[in-house]
This record gives sequence, structure tokens and C-alpha cells, in this order.
Amino acid sequence: MQHGLLALVEYNRLVRPAEQKVNLGGLFGRQVSSIGRKKGQGRLMAKKTIEQVDIASKRVLMRVDFNVPLDENGAISDDLRIRNALPSIRSVLERNGRLILMSHLGRPDGKGYEPSLSLAPAADRLRELLDGVTVHFVAEDCIGEDARAAVDQLGDGEVLLLENLRFHAGEKKGDAQFAQVLAAYGDVYCNDAFGTAHRADASMVAVPKAMEGKPRVVGMLMDRELRYISGTLEDPTRPFVAVLGGAKVSDKLGAIGNLLNRVDTILVGGAMAFTFLRALGHTIGSSLVQLGMLDQARDMLDDAGASKTDLLLPHDHVCGKELTRMTPVEVYEENIPEGWMGFDIGPKTVERYGEILHDARTIIWNGPMGAFETDPFDVGTNRVARVIAEATDRGATSVLGGGDTAAAVQTLGLADRYSHISTGGGASVEMLEGKSFEAVELLDDV
Ligand code: ATP
Repeated sequence: MQHGLLALVEYNRLVRPAEQKVNLGGLFGRQVSSIGRKKGQGRLMAKKTIEQVDIASKRVLMRVDFNVPLDENGAISDDLRIRNALPSIRSVLERNGRLILMSHLGRPDGKGYEPSLSLAPAADRLRELLDGVTVHFVAEDCIGEDARAAVDQLGDGEVLLLENLRFHAGEKKGDAQFAQVLAAYGDVYCNDAFGTAHRADASMVAVPKAMEGKPRVVGMLMDRELRYISGTLEDPTRPFVAVLGGAKVSDKLGAIGNLLNRVDTILVGGAMAFTFLRALGHTIGSSLVQLGMLDQARDMLDDAGASKTDLLLPHDHVCGKELTRMTPVEVYEENIPEGWMGFDIGPKTVERYGEILHDARTIIWNGPMGAFETDPFDVGTNRVARVIAEATDRGATSVLGGGDTAAAVQTLGLADRYSHISTGGGASVEMLEGKSFEAVELLDDV
């Protein structure tokens, strides 16, 4: 069976026609429950959400992802992650819960307070966003006496943001004693930190474990992420197309392996394509390649060839001598001569990928098609971004993951036209790899 590999070699062959049409409407229409993959069973489990728990006058300990980018002056340069948590935050406050928020920020040493990585700017921003709501913040230590006192004094409808969890080494280590102190703060545990969902940090796993017997639920952002990503993989309308790009094939091999036989077509772009092309014996000039991954890339192509999925590699490449705006530019087909580097998928590839995406009913996209930050190597990524937005306008479901790809789509002003843009790069790739998250599994089922 060389079905998938044929698509590589005979570039112009048609995509396999849809075999099965399954309606996702019911799944995405569901508002109240979230879905996680049950370990070892590969099936979906509904998780209880914060909206389903009675929280009046209760202390809700909520793990959020306030790991916001800071500029050179320490000011928040993009508050999207804080805004993403607002639906869950408001859900608690509107029902007179007492909200204790916890998050990490950056990568402190874990040896105590570091002023440059304090969550104080996030507390200020939250105050602005929650106009009129009392937002307390206790600096320096999330488990000190001051923090405990602030938890005890917290009133109904008020918020307390704890200091950066990672000032304690126990957070990264998943330490049970550290978790015990945090767990004692809450009557209800809520996890809304999808960006960290693939990690086993204390606040993600040990804290909810220590709160066994109390309600432990997902927040609304986590709920949406799980429903879209898991739901799309489990129950897609066909044709189902995955677009994978980015710098390194090593980051995406697991996802490709899991997507074989699940999706109808995988379109590969970005620098990672060159490792596959090199494994097939093409010359790739000085393009980025992971030489240590050639065997694994070859194996993956064999698996693709034996699968029901068509895996397509770029047929032509927009190349430069160096990654600058002023570099000379040439388009090469198949083989790239020495001294040239492939920085974007070429026009024929753009057209072919565009045709396939035009007909797709479900699309997942992770990783740019080229070095899109440098003009003129943004054309492939921009075109793919537009075609997916147009397919979504016509009723397709589109799920986008990966910080770089999301940035490209934001810049183009297309974000609103996608069904879902994931907030978690690493977490969304691990979901594509079919991994289950302990942090989600241990939460209450519906
Ligand atoms: P993230 O890791 O933020 O979630 P991602 O999965 O969307 O992002 P990455 O694997 O990090 O993507 O790769 C994105 C980077 O790869 C971009 O900076 C882009 O410029 C670079 N890149 C893509 N294609 C090429 C290429 N052909 N040559 C050089 N760099 C490339």
C-alpha cells in the first residue's frame, strides 16, 4: 500500500475523496461540559465546568495562565492571556464567589522573589479590566503569612491574585507540601490554564490531588480548548486536512504520527519540510535541516505511505541567499542548488495547498509555511491563512495552534474568522499527538 506516498511523488494527484461525513454541530453547540481524553481509552470524557458548581461565598482557587509577555520596562506588552481568563473570572464574581487566582510568570530560578517577574503588573491590568471589582495582590510570596491572611479576609465578589508560583521550586517539581498550602486556600478548584495543561506542575496536579473530595473543575477557556481540539480530532467532518509547518520536524513528528489515518491529508510546509525532502534524496541547498532526524523522517514517510492519509510536501520553494529583505530571490522546483535556502513554499505549492484547503470541511493548522516574519517570505503563510479563513466562512471548522502561526493570523486581521485559535502552543501540539493530560484527567467528570 503506497497510498499516502503516491501523493508525495505524483504531486498533482487528487486528494482522496471524503469517505465519511460526521456532523460536529452538536458537539460544538454544547456549552456546559468540557472534554478530555480518557487515558488509555482514546475516548472523550466530559469534564465539569466552573459554571456547573455552586460557588456563592465559597473560595474558588483558580489556576490561570497569566504568563504574559513583558517589555524591556517590565510592562505587559500583550494582555491577551489575562483577557482570555475573564469569562471564568466573571462567572465566579457574578455569583458572589471569592476568587483566588494563581499563575506562573516566566522562568524564575525558584529560589524566592524576583522583582522583574512579579505578577504585580498583571494585578494592575486585571483591576483595569474588572473595573469596580476589588483586586487584592500580595507581593513576594504565594504561601507566606500575608497570603494566608489575605485569603482569610477575602470578601464575596472579590479577587486575590497570588504572587508568581514559580518563585518556589516546589511549583515546577510538583511538590506535595507546597501544594498542600495552596490547596488549603480553596473550597473549589478550577483549572483554566490551558497553556500549561501539558505540565505536571504543583498547581496543575498536586493541588487538585490535595483537594480531593472538593469540586475540581475546568474553567471556560480550558473547556473551549478541549472541546475544539479533542472534538475536532475525534469527530471531524470530512475532508479533514492538517497543515503543519514551523522550524523543526522533531517538534511535529509525534503530531504527524497521530494524525496518520485520522486526517485525509497532511500538508507540510516551513523549514521542517526540508528534513523530509532531504530524506527522500532531494538536494535542499543550505536550507534549515535536522540531519539527526533523517531516519525518523524516512520512517514517518513510510508510515504515511502505508496509511490512508495523503502527506504532501512542497513541490517548489521561494529561496534566498540569506534571511533578509534585500536578498536575491529565486523559485526552485524539486531541488535547491547550493548557496540557496528555502524560506517559503513556492507558488505552485501555494496553489495546490489552496485547492485542497478550499474543499476541506475541517482544518487544523500548526506552524507557519515559511520564515513569514521576513518579507517576501510571508506569502505562503499569508495565503494559507486567508484560504483557511475563507473555508471557515463557508462553514468549515478551523482550529489554529502555535504561537507563531497565531501571531501571523492576528497580524493579518483574520483571527475572528477562525473557529478557534488555541492559546497553548505546546499543549495544543501535545493534544495533536494524542497525549492525555493528567491535569485535566483528574478533574471531575460531568
Ligand atoms: P510556537 O513554537 O510558538 O508554538 P509554531 O509551532 O507555530 O510556534 P515553530 O516551530 O516555532 O512554529 O517555527 C516557527 C519559526 O520557524 C518562525 O520563526 C519561522 O520564521 C521559522 N521558519 C519557518 N519556515 C522556515 C524556513 N523555511 N526557513 C527558516 N525559518 C523558517
